[in-house]
Amino acid sequence: MTVVDDQSLEDGSFNSETSTVAERAERAKAAFAAAVGEEWVIEGEPVARDFSDPYDTLQAPRSRGSYVVQPGSVEEVRQIVRIANEHRVPLWTGSQGRNNGYGGAAPRVPGSVIVNLRRMNKVLEVNETFGYAVVEPGVSFAELNAYLLENDIALWTSVPDLSWGSVLGNTLEHGLGYTPYGEHADQVCGMEIVLADGDLVRTGMGGQSNSKNFHTHQRGFGPRLDEMFMQSNFGIVTKMGLWMQPRPKAWRSVWIHATTDEAGYALVDALRPLLMDGTITNRVLIMNLTAILTALSKKEDWHDSTAPIDDDVRAAMRAAYGLGNWNARIGLYGEPDRMDVDERLIREAVAHIPGTEYVSREYPGDVRHEDVFPPDQAVAGIPNMDLLRMLDWYGYERPGHVGFAPIFPLTSDDAREIHQLLERGSARMGKDYGAAYALTARSMLMLALIIYNAGDPEEVRRTFEVTGEMIAESAAMGYGEYRGHLQFMDRIADQFDFNDHAQQRLNQRLKDALDPRGVLSPGKQGIWPSAGDFRRAGA
Ligand code: ADP
Repeated sequence: MTVVDDQSLEDGSFNSETSTVAERAERAKAAFAAAVGEEWVIEGEPVARDFSDPYDTLQAPRSRGSYVVQPGSVEEVRQIVRIANEHRVPLWTGSQGRNNGYGGAAPRVPGSVIVNLRRMNKVLEVNETFGYAVVEPGVSFAELNAYLLENDIALWTSVPDLSWGSVLGNTLEHGLGYTPYGEHADQVCGMEIVLADGDLVRTGMGGQSNSKNFHTHQRGFGPRLDEMFMQSNFGIVTKMGLWMQPRPKAWRSVWIHATTDEAGYALVDALRPLLMDGTITNRVLIMNLTAILTALSKKEDWHDSTAPIDDDVRAAMRAAYGLGNWNARIGLYGEPDRMDVDERLIREAVAHIPGTEYVSREYPGDVRHEDVFPPDQAVAGIPNMDLLRMLDWYGYERPGHVGFAPIFPLTSDDAREIHQLLERGSARMGKDYGAAYALTARSMLMLALIIYNAGDPEEVRRTFEVTGEMIAESAAMGYGEYRGHLQFMDRIADQFDFNDHAQQRLNQRLKDALDPRGVLSPGKQGIWPSAGDFRRAGA
């Protein structure tokens, strides 16, 4: 991606001065400092260290911010967008800014001012009667979980694989957890948003200032606008209401280990009816061996060569851990009697698949976290950071991974197709891969983890090149992505090509209407403003 800089501006609403994004950011710095306080403008080394893409060592200068501004209140966020408009400075908003594998906290337009919302970290409300929390952007999953424990609130969080990220940020990015509340975007009930001109809106029932239903009823009078602010660049979200699962009396983590790849694919067809009829309510994850073992061991424990692991190594791994090539994790919740019936139905559904092994563990709803087998924890929304250990797989001093996450229909044939595509891509890179399918009742996401040496520029270049090829190949098969790294956002957006890219054109019209100077995260999700000098090259 290249960004047009220093071009003469066509839009009459801007003054005719020609300057680079970085120069204008420099000029706006004093105004930002006056708005948030000098100590909350971060410059120099910490920007590169903490607010960049930690896994993309080729990023400088392709995506590096000028400096970071950390507001402490909604009012300060409003001032920030006004200053950005005045100085024509692009902003790039993150909450925790740990969007690793997708670009971290780095912006698309070099020289952007990074708005980081970690300081706004209050749990504003938890309502146990209605089962919801209202959070500011800086609240992490681990913090929300700790808040519930400290205050003895019988509600559960739903956590993604790593619990250090922002609840609000992850939800806006269509992130997922593994409980029945694991489709996080579906739990949103009432948001507050700062628009590009500094206006402040509340969605749904929250549009009524004295509403008693801001966080109990998802729709209001008129269109439901929440989705418009997810995976977009139309506003900065400053508050979010989220529904939460009441703590059940008991829960079970049920694992089905499928020895062969074919048995793993067959699980997908077998589980679909149970997901559709509501026997299984949680977000089932089917993980391959390496997705589990990268978090539990290192490559050198298995293989003394750097070559990708082969079938012999896989057999040794299966034997050592009692795992299959594919391993489905299902959550059941509530009364033990009812879970017995659910288990019987699941066992019957998979009985015809040869080479499967079934394991089930039951825990009380209020189990102490440390008493739960770590790979079971996400089923009960217990924060966990184990997956971060996967980065140590090869023993690289500077490891990285990049997300490849296509969505496809919930069938064994589609699972096979996409897995084989990933296998081919990994072979071209000469790398091991972890892969997992995250299931809904009708579709699944493939979450692929390819670990590479981020200290080796050639390896970074090659990894991004092959990941791009896989994205293109899966799009040609009719599978779009659920999320994408900064470097692939334009490419993925371009794949939504129906009627001469009508969806993209509509997004651009919304962008231009809501953010005429295009200051909010230009390029996010491939949505670029028409105006200004930070639009997509060639657009
Ligand atoms: P996490 O730390 O949970 O991984 P981030 O804070 O990195 O999440 O946010 C992920 C992405 O979501 C960001 O790159 C940004 O595009 C978007 N985002 C995060 N917070 C906000 C917000 N408050 N308003 C608008 N967009 C946001």
